[in-house]
Amino acid sequence: VVNKKDGVLMQDIVEGSANIKTAGQVFYNPVQEFNRDLSILVLQVFSKYFIVEKQLSKKIQEVVSYNKIESPPDFPPKGTSSENGITILEALSATGLRSIRYAKEIQGIKKIVANDLSQRAVEDIKRNVENNKIGNIVIPNNDDAIMFMYKHRQGQKFDAIDLDPYGCPSIFLDSAVQAITDGGLLLVTATDMAVLAGNSPETCYAKYGSISLRIKCCHEMAIRILLQCIEAHANRYSRYIVPLLSISADFYIRVFVRVYSGAQKCKFSTSKLSNVYHCTGCDSFVLQPLGILRNQENFKNIKFCLPAAPATSQKCEHCGGTQHMGGPLWSAPLHSIDFVQRLQENLTNELGTFRRIGGILQLITEELSDVPLYYTLEKLSGTIHVETPPMLSVRSAILNAGYRVSYTHMNKTSIKTDAPANVVWDIMRSW
Ligand code: SAM
Repeated sequence: VVNKKDGVLMQDIVEGSANIKTAGQVFYNPVQEFNRDLSILVLQVFSKYFIVEKQLSKKIQEVVSYNKIESPPDFPPKGTSSENGITILEALSATGLRSIRYAKEIQGIKKIVANDLSQRAVEDIKRNVENNKIGNIVIPNNDDAIMFMYKHRQGQKFDAIDLDPYGCPSIFLDSAVQAITDGGLLLVTATDMAVLAGNSPETCYAKYGSISLRIKCCHEMAIRILLQCIEAHANRYSRYIVPLLSISADFYIRVFVRVYSGAQKCKFSTSKLSNVYHCTGCDSFVLQPLGILRNQENFKNIKFCLPAAPATSQKCEHCGGTQHMGGPLWSAPLHSIDFVQRLQENLTNELGTFRRIGGILQLITEELSDVPLYYTLEKLSGTIHVETPPMLSVRSAILNAGYRVSYTHMNKTSIKTDAPANVVWDIMRSW
């Protein structure tokens, strides 16, 4: 609804339980409702986890001190900012819509700082916070997000930090990974899909420290580049990430990761990263881990990740085509299936886009997120000039050959499998 106030055209927006007004010069994108709805669900479940974990760690701490046993170094989480309820920073808030919805729709929130660099945006935030009567929870703030997060790297950190910038989020990561509590949640959007999807590999390296490739599974590659970038920033401060959920939707990607402290665990990071060799002839790909765990059975004994062996051939073994090297990419799982199942349990029709969320979460529970990247059926058949076979038949053939296979939520014709490329080609050729 658009109306006039003091000679200025004001836009009235209703989304979820928030009613907001903006003069139209401040960013608002209705398409991002799905992003905001999903973030509400994730924060709702996360806050339950987090509060219980804090209570548990307090109990254990009491027992530990009662028994006069020295507590382990990382436990309980340091810098925890609240006893009953989580604290959130929306670092790039625009109209304040997201923060207002978080405050009204999520239980267990102690405080939200809704920050924006633009004075005009902060005027909108103030008016909208007042009109929605949530001044007791949402604090408008006018600062450069980077400076604000640096100010919070010591002392009062945030339990969750939401980064929803225009384009690339990488300039905010160094400060964000420091301003978050141990075990806290980082929610990151990236909309510069052209850079992440291989149109400009040099720019991708400059921004994300990783070379993107023009490859059919570019959406998953984009997510894995962003995750490796967050991990790299976290590692500099002896921290590491655990992804809870990673989504590709519309024109953007969105990842939800927990950030933990632990210098010892950072030694495993190279084993969670890989370079990828992609054939420009047949679109096959091979992953080359940066490091391998020395002893997978006995995790406790691992002290180092050994450097992985170098790639043996520059030519593709399937078609003799030229290979391009991309990466490094995050090659560990994209989601925590336990967490995704909790999201499903907590999903209700109060969220406007609940059907879409439900559909995507269901696909994600079936997705082989521990198997990086995927093929697409039409590209496989196009490469060897055969008529596209039914998806079901190809999937059955892969299963019968003893391998796992799934779709991904990112592409309707995706084939994600742990079968080696030669098995996939044999199946396609036998059609
Ligand atoms: N999160 C909002 C939502 O869901 O509606 C949209 C945010 S909009 C994409 C990005 C916002 O970031 C803009 O309002 C812009 O003024 C703000 N911004 C850009 N650079 C910033 C910085 N360094 N610090 C704080 N805010 C910044």
